[in-house]
Amino acid sequence: MTAPTTDCLFCRIVRGEIPAKKVYEDEHVFAFEDIHPQAPTHVLVIPKKHFSGLKEAQAEDAEIIGRCHLAAAEIARQRNIEQGYRTVLNVGPGAGQSVFHLHVHLLGGRHLSWPPG
Ligand code: AMP
Ligand code: ZN
Repeated sequence: MTAPTTDCLFCRIVRGEIPAKKVYEDEHVFAFEDIHPQAPTHVLVIPKKHFSGLKEAQAEDAEIIGRCHLAAAEIARQRNIEQGYRTVLNVGPGAGQSVFHLHVHLLGGRHLSWPPG
């Protein structure tokens, strides 16, 4: 699914129809605080263009996926959490994906154990 959807939660956040605590925005990328933070920093970085997730991504999406990660790195730099942070893409319900608009979780500000659960 590549077309913007009227009922996609994250498309609605990008359009300002649902409130969110914006962290960063540029032409391609939007970032906001996760509503149920799992770490002192828990930011979601999303492409403004709708697609469902990593397994639906096409070759043309390579640049925007990279941009989302670079935005996450910049937010981590600004928040002084570069000692250790994690970017996570949950792919599919079995990995906990619950919103089907690709999003990079940026988690940091606490010790992050490995392997993740
Ligand atoms: P995932 O489970 O990987 O699909 O991640 C979805 C994330 O979106 C979860 O961490 C939720 O806490 C977060 N979330 C759901 N609704 C909202 C919302 N309205 N504003 C901000 N974050 C949200
Ligand atoms: Zn969407």
